[in-house]
Amino acid sequence: MPRILVTNDDGIFSEGIKLLAEALAELGDVFVVAPDREQSAMGHALTLGRPLRMQKMGERRFSVDGTPTDCVNLGVHSVLLDSPPDFVASGINYGLNLGDDVTYSGTVSATFEGTLLGIPSVAFSQEVAEGFSFRPAAAFARELFRILIAEREKLPKDLLLNVNIPAGPIRGLSFTRLGRRVYKQSVIEKVDPRGRKYYWIHGVPQWETVAGTDFEAVVSGRISVTPLHLDLTYYPGLESFGDLRDRLTGIDLGIDAQRP
Ligand code: MN
Repeated sequence: MPRILVTNDDGIFSEGIKLLAEALAELGDVFVVAPDREQSAMGHALTLGRPLRMQKMGERRFSVDGTPTDCVNLGVHSVLLDSPPDFVASGINYGLNLGDDVTYSGTVSATFEGTLLGIPSVAFSQEVAEGFSFRPAAAFARELFRILIAEREKLPKDLLLNVNIPAGPIRGLSFTRLGRRVYKQSVIEKVDPRGRKYYWIHGVPQWETVAGTDFEAVVSGRISVTPLHLDLTYYPGLESFGDLRDRLTGIDLGIDAQRP
């Protein structure tokens, strides 16, 4: 049986992780290692400045007082130390993780960590709307993993998929690229009861509706599957930033003066 490490950023008590773990338990040995409370928008944060505590919540079920990335590390290097998981599954997140937002997402960052550890990883996020259910997403996660498990000898170790599921009736599936957000983000400034200012980051995400993007797929009622990778290098920039490169390499770094 393949071993599947399941985590999320909404916390171990969220409905999304419960349904994901149940769906995947039909296909493999599922181990849940998840934050003990919500850790949404924690990105790829790793806790290094304090010890972490892990609590056994049940059979193959553990909570951690840390981030999703902490959970993947503890899952791989402690809970499953004897034999690493074959896959990491993250989610099902309460809310979409599209386009530029994947860099904030704890759900997606857990899969970054899985990939960095050489484990094929998939993130699942659910659109939230009136009357939505996690069940279609859980059913899709099971079918996706059925295929991954069948193909697992052939899968690249850096396989990383970001899956978003629309709330309404599902009208299909598209392989997509990340969309671009036109963010109307703002900071709201108010005054607390003690007369001190406080700030709240606020924004209603708006997206460029461009064909082929994850956003366009989801607004069209289709499941979006985006293959991601962790090399953030802007390769065209190695050439197109040539003038900048030449000026930077021309800066006198005092290398001669450093010679003894
Ligand atoms: Mn979340």
